Amino acid sequence: MAKKQFKSESKRLLDLMINSIYTHKEIFLRELISNASDAIDKLCFISLTDDKVGMDRSDFKICINADKDNRVLKITDNGIGMNKDELENNLGTIASSGSYKFKQDMDSKQDDIDIIGQFGVGFYSAFMVAKKITVNTKKYGEETGYCWQSSGADGYTVKEIEKDSAGTEIILEIKDNTDEENYDEFLEQYRLQGLVKKYSDYIRYPIMMDMTKSRVKEETKDSDKPEYEEYTETETLNSMVPIWQRRKQEVEQEEYDKFYSEKFMTMDKPLKTIVTSVEGVVTYKALLFIPSATPYDYYTKEYKKGLQLYSSGVLIMDCCEELLPEHFRFVKGVVDSADLSLNISREMLQHDRHLLTIAQNIEKKIKNELNSMLANDRENYEKFFNAFGRQLKYGVVSDYGMHKQELQDLLMFYSSTEKKLVTLSEYVDRMKEEQKYIYFATGDSAAAIDALPQTELLRSKGYEILYCTDDVDEFTLQTLMVYKEKSFCSATNEDLGIENDEANKEDKGDSSALLTFVKETLGDKISEVVASKKLVSHPVCLTAKGGISFEMEKYFNSVQPDSGMKAQRVLELNLSHSAVKAMEGFIQTDIDRAKKYAEVLYCQALLIAGLPLENPSEYTDLVCSIM
Ligand code: ADP
Repeated sequence: MAKKQFKSESKRLLDLMINSIYTHKEIFLRELISNASDAIDKLCFISLTDDKVGMDRSDFKICINADKDNRVLKITDNGIGMNKDELENNLGTIASSGSYKFKQDMDSKQDDIDIIGQFGVGFYSAFMVAKKITVNTKKYGEETGYCWQSSGADGYTVKEIEKDSAGTEIILEIKDNTDEENYDEFLEQYRLQGLVKKYSDYIRYPIMMDMTKSRVKEETKDSDKPEYEEYTETETLNSMVPIWQRRKQEVEQEEYDKFYSEKFMTMDKPLKTIVTSVEGVVTYKALLFIPSATPYDYYTKEYKKGLQLYSSGVLIMDCCEELLPEHFRFVKGVVDSADLSLNISREMLQHDRHLLTIAQNIEKKIKNELNSMLANDRENYEKFFNAFGRQLKYGVVSDYGMHKQELQDLLMFYSSTEKKLVTLSEYVDRMKEEQKYIYFATGDSAAAIDALPQTELLRSKGYEILYCTDDVDEFTLQTLMVYKEKSFCSATNEDLGIENDEANKEDKGDSSALLTFVKETLGDKISEVVASKKLVSHPVCLTAKGGISFEMEKYFNSVQPDSGMKAQRVLELNLSHSAVKAMEGFIQTDIDRAKKYAEVLYCQALLIAGLPLENPSEYTDLVCSIM
């Protein structure tokens, strides 16, 4: 029989497939099963109105048969089948199949062979694992069956055959193993079972396979040496109805929990399960989970952000990043939309309008769920915030603060007065009438912040202070700048916006000589010395002037030691403190001692601010010399 040639573009693709070095060869099974399922869909549809089909929905199935000895894998369906023309058109030329798109994209990416895996490459993908493919098929309602055969790019043959019933049988002669590739795996029943579970679990028709199992022989059951025998059992490999396609009311939370832990291989239970079904411009269902614990690799490169993407129950992408914004990267789940085609690449997806709309909806949905959790289930929200709050703060800071409006109401900080996590909105609602700013203070721990002299005045006024103990906290507030028209103010700022306080009444006229003396003694180490308005019981503190805070200085110097980032230091003196008074006294009687006092007080201010001493041993010598 004369061989017919593939169309030229098909030939190229076939070549690619056959010689593919692509590691995801396994997707061929998904492609063949999806084709079988589509074919069954078509006949099933006809059967609704045509009694002659003689089958109802429960009769349809896809069978997989692996014959290890002969290296043959068969995939059979009782779907609509193909006639001669269809065989030629569908399998003889790529242009009629979704694979055409693949080829077009391939042209622009000659050397990126890996993109093969991002595509649904259809029937031809079977050539990645098979050296010869036979398709026996008979179209529903026709008399003659046909056999299509091909060993690859050199062409194909079509001949008539006897076939009892409508449907298609795809017979793959699996390639021999090579040094690099093990093709045997595609003949192993457990591997095949695993592939069906992974890619085709939610195909609506049963995918059946004869599984060889082992059991104790009945007659040796009670003996000391039981003997085993092999037997065959037909199993349905797929679960058929995806949990996200079922109505929420019909699914127990335990089922969702089980699905979550099996699918995403985690031990924790989801803190929140979000089920959504949208119909309209795009139609999709999504099942999303907010984990209750931070995955151990969450802040590493290993952690992959994304949702599983299905098209009508067929997995098309394991981890579709485009579906989740960075700030909600902790969310896990699946999205299923019939509007997406199987034959879609990662590159194409990025520009897919449907996908974009789905992603936007999902982002809104997650945000609303978190908001309602915050309002109605505070305990769980705090649990969530402890696990992923840092991610939300990163979200505020990143992209030049683009997402801050969206995220600000979800933030929480530990409060000095409430002694627990509070939201910004709660803070603002509680603010005192005359209070100008939302105050925050930065430090390693709540206790360290409490000990900061700079917070003394704020506390004595009864003002609430938000504790920034996470390294991203201060950046977050700096990025927000204002919340409900109130600006943020660091406790270490020189100007706290507090008028008429007690310290302010201090007679500053006398202090100028003291301030000049201290400035001259310390020189460039500080930019200014001032009489403090905020110190109550402590002698000194440092405040930062200008845009750079001490926390920013510390942060930048830790990530980039030679950054040269330095906050402008303002040394505040508590003029009524005895140590300061003593220093003032010595200016007249013992100038050297007064200078030492100034140095010591400066070093103390550095220590309190959590900044490193320039020369610790010099400092201790200094203290000793005074003692
Ligand atoms: P795609 O499925 O993306 O269209 P394929 O290369 O996988 O591309 O298949 C080409 C066409 O061949 C299908 O669209 C379908 O019409 C036909 N086909 C493939 N497998 C079967 C099958 N098992 N039964 C009936 N038709 C099939």
